[in-house]
Amino acid sequence: MAETLFSKIIRREIPADIVYEDDDVLAFRDIQPQAPVHVLFIPKRAVATLNDLVVDDALLIGKLVLAAATFAKREGFADAGYRTVINCNPDGGQSVYHIHLHLLGGRQMQWPPG
Ligand code: 5GP
Repeated sequence: MAETLFSKIIRREIPADIVYEDDDVLAFRDIQPQAPVHVLFIPKRAVATLNDLVVDDALLIGKLVLAAATFAKREGFADAGYRTVINCNPDGGQSVYHIHLHLLGGRQMQWPPG
């Protein structure tokens, strides 16, 4: 797959407000936040989209979700609630082709989304 700017963030070649890191996952604040808390959780091993996942990636995707929940608890808004989103391809609104989970919190979310 073509490399994206997220690989450069992983390598610290471009700056980002990194809020969480472990062996497999990096998380940083979105540059255009859509909520008071808007953090992107990405696997360090690049996968382009949800459609590219295989069974062996199940643990990796689970780690993204768990990292987001752990962050929400640590930051104190887990009980109030939050939203997680993974956009896929153009109709899903994906703009960066390195899979990422959006964690949005700190305000009441609306449903359905636009
Ligand atoms: P997508 O639209 O692919 O689901 O989400 C990509 C997200 O990456 C967008 O919310 C966008 O604001 C964010 N983004 C794009 N470029 C950068 C950047 O250079 N730094 C950070 N921190 N976020 C970015």
